[in-house]
Amino acid sequence: MPERDAWLSLGSNLGDRAANLSAALTALRALPGLSVGAVSGLYETPPWGDTDQGPFLNAAAAIRTSLAPHALLDAAKATEKQLGRTETRRWGPRVIDIDIVHMAGVALSDERLTLPHPHWHDRGFVLLPLAEIAPELVIGQRSVAAALAACDVSGIRRPEPP
Ligand code: AMP
Repeated sequence: MPERDAWLSLGSNLGDRAANLSAALTALRALPGLSVGAVSGLYETPPWGDTDQGPFLNAAAAIRTSLAPHALLDAAKATEKQLGRTETRRWGPRVIDIDIVHMAGVALSDERLTLPHPHWHDRGFVLLPLAEIAPELVIGQRSVAAALAACDVSGIRRPEPP
């Protein structure tokens, strides 16, 4: 399998959220066939969809991987499980959420996986961190910076460093 660049969106709103994000990145770094490159800072974002839950911390990470798209999804889900994620209601609270935003050169959609992620361009919690590490990245016809400029990011803040 050829190596590809890919970009992940990570989020947590249960427990020690920063530690969960950091543990997810450590687990991803340990996977064969995957290396983690640039990682954004952490952004605190109001819950999306189901607002009856605590705020998320979100981050984005650039990776390089020889995993095929569905194998990368399996790796992301295995990492979520390893960190103790259990199934909750849709858009409910979670220890960790790992979404594949984009894999270079890949466009597909089936019952398990859609790439690029169908909502990459309209969610501030994806775009703000992603724009920090890959503003010039073009997904489909649009750059990350251009999508961010058109997106409502009110309520999202960069937390103070500890
Ligand atoms: P989530 O609740 O965010 O973990 O996502 C729910 C489901 O979305 C997962 O079980 C995946 O099978 C599916 N999915 C579809 N496209 C993607 C994608 N690009 N990245 C991650 N999950 C995806």
